[in-house]
Amino acid sequence: MSVVERALVHALPLLPRATVRSFASPYIAGETLADACRVVEELNRSGKAATVDVLGEEVETLGEARALADAYVEVLDAVRERGLDAHVSVKPTGLGLEVDRELCRENVERLVRLAERDGSFVRIDMEDARTTDATLDLYRRLRADGLERVGVVLQARLRRTLDDIASLAPLAPNVRLCKGIYLEPPEVSFTRSSEIRAAFVRCAEALLESGAYVAFATHDDALIQEAKRLVARHRLPTERYEFQMLLGVRERAADALVREGHRVRVYVPFGERWYEYSLRRLRENPRVAARVTADVVRRIALPGAGR
Ligand SMILES: Cc1cc2nc3c(=O)[nH]c(=O)nc-3n(C[C@H](O)[C@H](O)[C@H](O)COP(=O)(O)OP(=O)(O)OC[C@H]3O[C@@H](n4cnc5c(N)ncnc54)[C@H](O)[C@@H]3O)c2cc1C
Repeated sequence: MSVVERALVHALPLLPRATVRSFASPYIAGETLADACRVVEELNRSGKAATVDVLGEEVETLGEARALADAYVEVLDAVRERGLDAHVSVKPTGLGLEVDRELCRENVERLVRLAERDGSFVRIDMEDARTTDATLDLYRRLRADGLERVGVVLQARLRRTLDDIASLAPLAPNVRLCKGIYLEPPEVSFTRSSEIRAAFVRCAEALLESGAYVAFATHDDALIQEAKRLVARHRLPTERYEFQMLLGVRERAADALVREGHRVRVYVPFGERWYEYSLRRLRENPRVAARVTADVVRRIALPGAGR
């Protein structure tokens, strides 16, 4: 990222919300459950499954955490009633991890029990490195209670991840493997993109060798090709792995994977808390973020421009 791009990305929070919204709209299904269902139906028609995320993280009260859990119950009910090919993805801090761990476990367990009833699935997203131990502990406790329709996320960026793969192996876990979105200090994480890529491949190999179900969550062509090579080498049937991508990102690559016969699942966020998620998406894509910010600055500096 150039210095100018970096400066423009830092200026993102100063942008008018309407501007952020218009540029972020491809990444978000909308504000309501009906919006999310419509998008999931479209994805299903194009041969893709979905995982639905109700936007909301780092809640500060028990009430907010319960309200988010209630919203997920509505999603699971809608998935069942409409026969959608969709799971849900939950953020532990959204369900109360930092308020009361026991309440968070209850909230997640409630959703996993519904998923068990309906043949659905709950993916516990992984947040920043301060929450890794608590999140893995939450996952282990649910599995120890006999719950199966729950999976976790591991971040290749973290130096600890190969050890986590080894310690989770006896559970034959269902793992989403991603690079990791949170920028962590070098003591705990790789920082160069070449190192993170290499770690992703090592983790993918270790997961496949350990018998885990692997969801390769990446838009990075080199890693998609590497994952395809690995599943071919391990002669994995399509029920043993999938590819995952974010809504609105590299849709043609997702279509190509579907045509080649791979299972593809798209992450579909929706909800009123779209602003924080949108900023994150724009930050991840500095070229777009820089273009958006530069455009707004130009319009403010030169009010006639662009009309
Ligand atoms: C389904 C899914 C679930 C995820 N869950 C988690 C999680 O629980 N915890 C976590 O820490 N991280 C999660 N992530 C984020 C992940 O860790 C990475 O930060 C993110 O996917 C970018 O890495 P990449 O592998 O796609 O490679 P990159 O090198 O970042 O991207 C490769 C290419 O894809 C395109 N691209 C990537 N992102 C965008 C974007 N936002 N907008 C437009 N184009 C883009 C660009 O063309 C880019 O060059 C998830 C990602 C996916 C796909």
